[in-house]
Amino acid sequence: MTTIITWKERVANLTYELGREPTLGELLEAAWIHEMTPEEIQEQRRSLVRNARCEHGEMDFEQCPKCREQT
Ligand SMILES: [Zn+2]
Repeated sequence: MTTIITWKERVANLTYELGREPTLGELLEAAWIHEMTPEEIQEQRRSLVRNARCEHGEMDFEQCPKCREQT
């Protein structure tokens, strides 16, 4: 049985284990195995709905060059 921890806790644990700030690669790896808490799943659903169509009219905000510039 796995204990569900929030993403923040996971990053804190990772930082503690490494003894330093995790790199982007390590964060991505952690994100890949991260099991989201019900609250996080809800929050992601909300943000997906919010981002269903970006302000520039692109269907997928990740495909929009203007949105990508901002991140
Ligand atoms: Zn956009």
